[in-house]
Amino acid sequence: MSANIKPEFWIVTGAASGIGAAVVRAARKSGANVLAVDVDQTKGSALAEETGALYRSCDVGDLTQWQQLVDYLDSEQADLGAPTRIHLNAGIQIAPPNVPLSEYQLEAATLERYRRMMSVNVDGVVFGLQTLLPLLAPGAAIVATASLAGLTPYAIDPLYAMSKHAVVGLVRSLAPDLARRCITIHALCPGAVDTDIIPHAQKTKDAQFMTPADLAKDVMELMAETESGKSWVRLRADKPRYVIRAPGDKTG
Ligand code: NAD
Repeated sequence: MSANIKPEFWIVTGAASGIGAAVVRAARKSGANVLAVDVDQTKGSALAEETGALYRSCDVGDLTQWQQLVDYLDSEQADLGAPTRIHLNAGIQIAPPNVPLSEYQLEAATLERYRRMMSVNVDGVVFGLQTLLPLLAPGAAIVATASLAGLTPYAIDPLYAMSKHAVVGLVRSLAPDLARRCITIHALCPGAVDTDIIPHAQKTKDAQFMTPADLAKDVMELMAETESGKSWVRLRADKPRYVIRAPGDKTG
């Protein structure tokens, strides 16, 4: 590689744990500069120390904090150039993992939990795109972490499923316009991955999970995928990733 080629510059949200942390590790291993974004300052700083990534605290559901992040990127202090790889990955379920599954049901959702989940899962992607898209040059790539629950029913947490369907719809709808700017966008739709988001009641001894590293591999590959606007499902590490097309989508 020529010494003049600038390394990729990744921004990863929800980077301090689970899938996001695995993506930070994989991107750093590939030689990229990485800005790890998360509300968890303890884990975010530890990951930065471990990997050499930069860490910034940012609540992805807060537009003002996104604007502060962009101000930081514009500042001389950052000296990173324009981002080339964006992974909008932060997400939560409607209830914390340690409560009974009955609390995940629609009737049990408090207004506070509902607003919080929508702000992370939906606003977090919308605000990230609104603030970062103006910075991107042709050749940039975006992956948004949706979920299998963004394509199929997920009766355990119906409101989470609704929020992930929103991410899939946004990715599908933005892709044609972004293609005119030579920017790709993909929805990552994993089945069960062993991370902190999984309700403890689902972590039974027979449950089968993929690892965050399995999904990091997908994210690395999707950043180079030219077929844009698709929903990529990964159910098991030993089976291929595949696309679930929108009704009427005859491409590919
Ligand atoms: P995780 O809990 O390990 O990681 C989520 C990260 O998001 C945490 O570090 C958390 O601090 C961060 N976060 C939460 N709210 C935030 C906010 N407002 N701003 C910034 N960061 C915030 O869980 P994970 O499984 O790695 O989740 C990553 C993504 O994968 C989520 O979008 C999740 O919905 C999705 N997903 C997970 C699974 C699974 O089975 N684990 C399956 C499908 C999709």
